[in-house]
Amino acid sequence: MKPGMLYEFSAGGVLFKGEQVLLIKNPSGVWTFPKGLVEKGEDPSQTAVREVWEETGIRGEVLQRVGDVEYWYHRDGKRIKKKVTYFIMKYTDGETKPSWEVMDAKFFPLHEAKRLLKYRGDKDIFNKVLYILGKLQDGQP
Ligand code: ATP
Repeated sequence: MKPGMLYEFSAGGVLFKGEQVLLIKNPSGVWTFPKGLVEKGEDPSQTAVREVWEETGIRGEVLQRVGDVEYWYHRDGKRIKKKVTYFIMKYTDGETKPSWEVMDAKFFPLHEAKRLLKYRGDKDIFNKVLYILGKLQDGQP
């Protein structure tokens, strides 16, 4: 890490309920996976469980780590490098109830989720997840 640069570390979940996957609409109006900042003393997998619950009202458990996504964004004129670690998660209980932090939270069939995802990193992570779970047929969910 370079001195003087700003870094953020978050973790999130790609959560499945049967053949459906959980997405949130973020404050920029983009459908993406629930995630949030890793707090002090927290393991990223705990962050994923906590953030999924806080943002969507859904309880889930972590099955395995998928990988990291990195991107840059600007806040208050500063350039921030962000790394997000994603985990495959399985629904345990709860109803979708979007928090004030997000515009919406819903389950989608896999082909619809694939169509809705806009960020490059999300598309890559989702493809990796579908590959791991053996849900890719002819490259399509
Ligand atoms: P967190 O959910 O980790 O607490 P946050 O809500 O503070 O973070 P981000 O979700 O990282 O902030 O959003 C900051 C900016 O980055 C916004 O402009 C958002 O549209 C953009 N952004 C969010 N996710 C991605 C991504 N996967 N790829 C590129 N840009 C993204």
